[in-house]
Amino acid sequence: GAQPDTGPAPTGLHARHRAVLPDWLTLLYERPIELTHGEGRHVWDADGNRYLDFFGGILTTMTAHALPEVAKAVAEQAGRILHTSTLYLSRPMVDLAERIAALSGIPDARVFFTTSGTEANDTALLLATVYRRSNQILAMRNSYHGRSFSAIGVTGNAGWSPTGLSPLQTLYVHGGVRTRGPYAGLSDAAYIDACVADLEDLLGQTAGVAALIAEPVQGVGGFTSPPDGLYAAFREVLDRHGILWIADEVQTGWGRTGDHFWGWQAHAGNGPPDLLTFAKGIGNGMSVGGVVARAEVMNCLGANSISTFGGSPVTMAAALANLDHLLAHDLQGNARRVGGLLIERLRAACAGLRVVREVRGRGLMIGVELVAPGTDEPSPRAAGLVVEAARERGLLIGKGGLSGSALRIAPPLSLTVEEAETGARILAEALREAERGMTAG
Ligand code: PMP
Repeated sequence: GAQPDTGPAPTGLHARHRAVLPDWLTLLYERPIELTHGEGRHVWDADGNRYLDFFGGILTTMTAHALPEVAKAVAEQAGRILHTSTLYLSRPMVDLAERIAALSGIPDARVFFTTSGTEANDTALLLATVYRRSNQILAMRNSYHGRSFSAIGVTGNAGWSPTGLSPLQTLYVHGGVRTRGPYAGLSDAAYIDACVADLEDLLGQTAGVAALIAEPVQGVGGFTSPPDGLYAAFREVLDRHGILWIADEVQTGWGRTGDHFWGWQAHAGNGPPDLLTFAKGIGNGMSVGGVVARAEVMNCLGANSISTFGGSPVTMAAALANLDHLLAHDLQGNARRVGGLLIERLRAACAGLRVVREVRGRGLMIGVELVAPGTDEPSPRAAGLVVEAARERGLLIGKGGLSGSALRIAPPLSLTVEEAETGARILAEALREAERGMTAG
C-alpha cells in the first residue's frame, strides 16, 4: 500500500523519489537507503555506511556483490553486441538454455527466457492454460508469484494484490502455512494427509483444472516450508486428473535451500515438476528469468516469440558467468553448511526472547516469526522495529509473511562463517532492543 506519512519529511533523493515515482513503490526504512556500491556480502550507502547484506541474496545478488566474473562478462558482451531479439541465433542464449535444461531435472526440457519472475510465471500460466484448455488454476494459500495481471490472480494474500480481479479462476489449497489455522500442531505426516484430503475435496467439486502453481518454500510469505514430500503427495492426486505442476523456483532455485539445487527436490518422490520458473539471482543483478517445461507443454503455443528483451546476450552472459561461479565454488554446499550454522546461532540467540515465536528455514533462506511479547499475536510492529534496529547496527534484513511479522534472512550464497556469526550477533541485539521497546511502558 501507500507509504505512511509518519517519520521525518523526506529530503534530497528521497523527496525526488516521492515526487516522481508511484506512491506504491514502497521503500524500506524510515530513512531509505541509497546503495552506491557493493562487494562480496557487503554494500555501502551514499553516506559511506557499510552494511552486511542478509537480504540481497533473495533480491538479486545470488552469489556475491560486484562479482568480478559477472562484471567482466557483462562488459565484454556489451562491447561486442547488445542487439536484443529472438529473431537471430544467439550463442549465449543457447549456451545458457542447454545448461539450465540439463540442471532442471525435467526430461526433454525446453527453456524460454524472460526478464523477470513475474513474466516467467505469466508465461508458465499461459502455457498451462493453453495446454489444458482451461483457465482454472490451483494456488497455495499465502503464495506470492508476482504482480502482473495474471500473477496477482494466483497470489494468495489480498495485501499483495493491487486488485482482486483476475483473468484466471483460482482455487486456493492448504499447505503453505503450518503455524496457524486448523492444521497447526499436526505431525508432518498428518499435515500432509490433511492437505491432500483438502486438495482431493477441492478437485471432487471442480473439473478441468489446468495446473497447480506453488513455491517449494514460500518466499514473500515469510520463508515457510511445508514438510518434505508434500508436493510429491499432491503430485499423485494431480496426475490422476492430468493437472500440471508449476514449481516457482524464483526464490528457492540454484542451491539456496542448501540440501537441494531446486526446492522441488525436497518433494521429488513422484518426479520433477512439469514446469519450473526461475528469475532473480541467476543474473546476479541482470534481469534474467525464464520457464523450463517439457517440450510437449512448451511447444503447445501457436504464437511467435512473446518477448523482445528476454534472453538478451548481456543478461545471458552474466547468468552464465554467475552459474559457473556458483558451481565451481559449490555455493549450494556453502548454503547448507553456513546456513545450518546461522540457523543454529539464531535459535540459540532467540531462545530466551518472548518476541520470537520460531526460527525456521533451510540453507540460506531463514525466517524468524515475531509476536507481541508473551502472546501468540503476529507482530508486524516488532518486525519493523527489528529491521530498523538491525540497520542502525549495520545489518540489512527483510520482512514479510502473511501478517508482515516475519523477518527474512537471505544473504548471498557465498556468506562466510565469520559473517554468519557477526550477523547473528547483530540480529540478536536488534531483537533484544525491539523486545525492550515493546515491553517498556
Ligand atoms: N515468484 C516468487 C516466488 C517471488 O518471490 C517473486 C518476487 N518476489 C516473483 C515470483 C516475481 O519476480 P519478479 O519480481 O522478478 O517479477
